[in-house]
Amino acid sequence: MRLIFHGPPGVGKGTQAERISIVKKISHVSSGDLLRAAVDAKTEIGLKAREYIESGLLVPDELIVNIVSDTINSAECEKGFILDGFPRNLSQAKVLDDALENSGKILDRVFSFTAAEEVIIMRISGRRMCKGCGAHYHQVYSPTLKKNICDKCGSDLVQRKDDYPETIKVRLKVYREQTEELIDYYNQKNILVEVNCNGNKADIQQSILAELNSMLKRKSDAE
Ligand code: ADP
Repeated sequence: MRLIFHGPPGVGKGTQAERISIVKKISHVSSGDLLRAAVDAKTEIGLKAREYIESGLLVPDELIVNIVSDTINSAECEKGFILDGFPRNLSQAKVLDDALENSGKILDRVFSFTAAEEVIIMRISGRRMCKGCGAHYHQVYSPTLKKNICDKCGSDLVQRKDDYPETIKVRLKVYREQTEELIDYYNQKNILVEVNCNGNKADIQQSILAELNSMLKRKSDAE
């Protein structure tokens, strides 16, 4: 099963990708996480990517397409994957098409997540991350027991620099200008499924799983 979770920053696609990947036993490939790991490890790519990420802009394609292609061709993605945050523009979508075609694989579905802009801003601005173990929290929806201290490892929580309010606005603009058009691209390929993310996490997860299960059933009926 090969899936893309597409949508604006903060819509909740990362949370759903994590949950669905566990249930379906496939890999969760987050381009943002891959880039942040490169930044933390101070690799050549990380050093180049850092400024773009912190200012809310897309990193140049050449910094991300190879890492993602290598990851989806690796053994850990053999059983399938959810791509979260990639592709982010048409040229990345075409690189992905070529990479899949070259290895004889197809994309099963693209889930397009949408939510009202005020919901998105609320979700992003309350987001916090543990600087020790990387666990995710939200000041309103999933707070820690002790303010700003990770429940799991006791380290301090931090806010991603690109989650500051001024940068959120840049990221939403970049999404509208460069990423949103992929909805049409995948709609034309007849693999797009829209997911309304204004509701709660459990209901959203159920609607994605229902779609995947009916897709799998249709596949096995056809065989
Ligand atoms: P979000 O979806 O909440 O914006 P991500 O973790 O997916 O967060 O991405 C964080 C940042 O990493 C982006 O703002 C961008 O700078 C960079 N990034 C992630 N994926 C890509 C990509 N496919 N192409 C270019 N830049 C990317």
